[in-house]
Amino acid sequence: MAKASYEIRVCGLVQGVGFRPFIFKLAKANNILGTVENNNEGVLIIAEGEELKIKDFINSIRSKAPVAAMISSIFLSERKVNGFKDFRIKKSRSYSDDITEVSPDIAVCDDCLRDMKEQHHRIDYPFINCTNCGPRFTIIRDLPYDRPKTTMAPFKMCPQCEKEYKNVLDRRFHAQPVACSTCGPHYTLHFDGKEITDLQKILNITSQLIGDGKILAIKGLGGYHLACDAQNEEAVRLLRQRKNREGKPFAVMFGDKEILKEYLFLDSEEEQLLTSWRRPIILLKIKKALVPSVSIGLDTVGAMLPYMPFHYLLFEHLTVPALVMTSGNLSDEPILIDNKRAIEDFSPITDAIITYNRDIHNRTDDSVCMIVNKKERVIRRSRSFVPSPVVLNLNTEGIFAAGAELVNCFAIGKGKQAILSQHIGDLKNLETLDFYSESVNRFSHLFRFKPEIAVADLHPDYLSSRYADETGLPLLQVQHHHAHIASCMAENRLDEKVIGISFDGTGLGTDGRIWGGEFLICDLLDFERAAHFEYIPMPGGDLVTKEPWRMAVACLFSYFGETLLRDNFKKYFPTIEEKSFETVLFMLKQNINCPQTSSAGRLFDAVSALIGVCPIASYHAEPPMRLESVADQNCYDIYPFGVENGVISFKQTFSKILDDLSKNTRVEIISSKFHNTIVQIIIEVVSEISEETRLKKVALSGGTFQNKILLENAEKQLRNAGYDVYSHSLVPSNDGGIALGQMAIAAKNRSTKNNQN
Ligand code: ZN
Ligand code: ZN
Ligand code: FE
Repeated sequence: MAKASYEIRVCGLVQGVGFRPFIFKLAKANNILGTVENNNEGVLIIAEGEELKIKDFINSIRSKAPVAAMISSIFLSERKVNGFKDFRIKKSRSYSDDITEVSPDIAVCDDCLRDMKEQHHRIDYPFINCTNCGPRFTIIRDLPYDRPKTTMAPFKMCPQCEKEYKNVLDRRFHAQPVACSTCGPHYTLHFDGKEITDLQKILNITSQLIGDGKILAIKGLGGYHLACDAQNEEAVRLLRQRKNREGKPFAVMFGDKEILKEYLFLDSEEEQLLTSWRRPIILLKIKKALVPSVSIGLDTVGAMLPYMPFHYLLFEHLTVPALVMTSGNLSDEPILIDNKRAIEDFSPITDAIITYNRDIHNRTDDSVCMIVNKKERVIRRSRSFVPSPVVLNLNTEGIFAAGAELVNCFAIGKGKQAILSQHIGDLKNLETLDFYSESVNRFSHLFRFKPEIAVADLHPDYLSSRYADETGLPLLQVQHHHAHIASCMAENRLDEKVIGISFDGTGLGTDGRIWGGEFLICDLLDFERAAHFEYIPMPGGDLVTKEPWRMAVACLFSYFGETLLRDNFKKYFPTIEEKSFETVLFMLKQNINCPQTSSAGRLFDAVSALIGVCPIASYHAEPPMRLESVADQNCYDIYPFGVENGVISFKQTFSKILDDLSKNTRVEIISSKFHNTIVQIIIEVVSEISEETRLKKVALSGGTFQNKILLENAEKQLRNAGYDVYSHSLVPSNDGGIALGQMAIAAKNRSTKNNQN
C-alpha cells in the first residue's frame, strides 16, 4: 500500500483544550505515524500513512475536536515520506510574539463528574479537571500556558497526578490545573468565627444555612457570588437590602436542567446553550414563579446551571431547587476576587463565606446570553467567552480600542483578530477604572501587544476616551453610533455600504447633541445620518435615566404644551410629587439644563413612565425592560407617527397613547402597540433610504436591540421585505460591543491610508 506524508497546520483555539492528546489518539486509531506539536499559529502535525486513512484522520480533526477547541483553518501540504516509526507528541517550541489563542474557562466535563464519584484520589474533589475542562483564562498569568505561569504554581503535583500529567493516553495529560485531594487546593468555610476545611462539613453547614434563609458569599471561577435560596422571598429581599440593590434582576442557578424546566420555558436552542461548556446565564421566560423579588416586574429570569465541581456537590446536599447567584460586589464595584477583601467586605452582609486557596488572576463575571430568532446573542461577554477573539477581514495589529463608558469592554488588535476584554463595567466608578487599566496592562502583556494607535469614543469626557488620550498614541475618535454599526458589520465580516440602525440610550453626536435613534448610511470609513428620532429635551440631563417620568413630561410638554400637562399631571403621574413636577416644568419652559436627545432609550423610558409601568428606575434600562415584559404579543396594532425630512416625530404616537389611557386600555396593549410602531418605523424608513440609495443590507445595533420583541420582529419583517439583515451574536449590541466597532473603523482607516500612500 502506497504511503503518503502530509504537513497539517491547524489554526484557531487549539491549545489548552486537550488538542494534542486528541490528535495522538486519533493518529493511533488511523495507523498514522509522525508527530504533533504546538507552535505559534496553533498545532503542527506531520502525518504519514495510507492516503485514505490520512483523509479520515483529517476529517475527524474537524468533526471530533474537543468541545472547547475552535478550528479556524486547516492547511495541508504534501511532503516526502520520512519513515516515522511511531506517533509522538513533540515538546513545544519556544514562543515568539505572535502568540496563539488563550482558552477561556470551561465548565467541568461529564467525564470528570464521573471521576469525582469513582477515582479514589478524587472522590468529591471540588477542583477536579482535565484537558477537556477546568479553569483557564481566570488562572493564567502569562504564556505559554504552563502550570508555573498559572495560579496553580504554588501547588506541587503529587506522584499520582504527575503520572497522569505525563501519560499521553491519560485525559489529564498536560492538564495544567491537574490536582487531587492530596495535592490540590481546598475550600474553607468561614462561619461562626471558625474556619472549617472539611468538605463534607462545609457542604452540610452550607445546605443548612441556605435552607434557613441565610446569605452566603461563595468563591466562584471568576469571582465571588452572593447566594441564597431562590424560593425564599424573605432571603432574597434581605440580599437586595444588604447588597444595596433595589430592583436589578438576580441570576439563578438551578440544580439541573429538569428542575429548571419546571420553572422556566426552555426551547431547544436555549437548552443547547444552557448546557454548553460555556454555561452562560440565559434569559428565559417564566413558567412558574420562583419568588417575586428575584426579577421584579419582569417576565424572565436569568438562569444558569452548575459549572464548577463545587456547584454540583453543593446541589447534591441542598434541600432547595435553585439558588440566587449574583455577582459578589458592593453596589457597582467590580466582582470581588480577593479572599482577604471578600472576608472584610462580605462579613458584615453575609452569614458565612466560602473561600478556596487558588487565586483568581483574571476576574470574570458570568456571561449573559439570550436566544432571539433561534440565534445566540451575547449580552454580557465574560466568563467562558473571554479571551476568544473575533476574527476580522482587516489587519488590526497594534490597535487599542478603548470602548465606551457604561458597560465598558476594550479591545486589542493582533493580526486580524480583535481580542475583546471581559465585561469591565461602569467606568464612572473608581474601582472599575482601576480594573480597566489593570486589565489593559494584563491583556497587553499576555498577548505581547505593542500599541500603535488608540481609538476612542467621540465623547471626550468618557474615562475610556481620556485613558486613550493619555496613552500619547495617535488617537482616532469615532462617533458612538457609527461604532455600534461597525461592530455589527465587523462580526458579520461586512466591509461595504449598509443601512445602519443604531438605537440606544446615549452617545455624543457630531452636532454636540445626544443621539440614540439613528438611521445611518455607513461603511467602515464614514457615515451619513440619514434619519433620526426627533430631538426632545432631557430635563435634568442624565438624571432622566433614574427618573424616566421626566422624559414623559418632556415629551408631553414638547408635543402638546403646558396646559395639557397641568390638567392631567395627577392622573398620569400619581406617584410623583407636585413640587418635582413644577421644577421639571420650569426647566423645560426656561430651557435650563435640558440637553437635546434623539435617543431611542429615552423614548422607551418616556412611554414606560407615562403608562405607569416604570416612572422611577432603580437600575440601568429598567423602564424599557419592564415595558417589554408587559407587552401582549398577540396584539398587532400600531400607532401613527410622522416622518419628515428624515426626522421621525412621535407627536401622533403620544396623542394616541393618551387616547388609549383615557379609554383605560390595558398597558399590555399599549406597550405592544408601541413596540409594533417602532418596528413599523424601521420598515418605512429603511424602505425610503433603500429606494434612494439602492442599499439592501441592513445592520442593527445598539442597546435597544437587547429588547427581544423589537429585535425579533424587526429582523423578521425586514427579511420579509427583502432586505439582508445583520445583527449581533458574538458581541453585545450594547456598549460592550463598541470596542469592536472602534477597532474595525480604525483598521479600515489605516489600511485605506496605507493604500493611498
Ligand atoms: Zn474534565
Ligand atoms: Zn495529586
Ligand atoms: Fe451605545
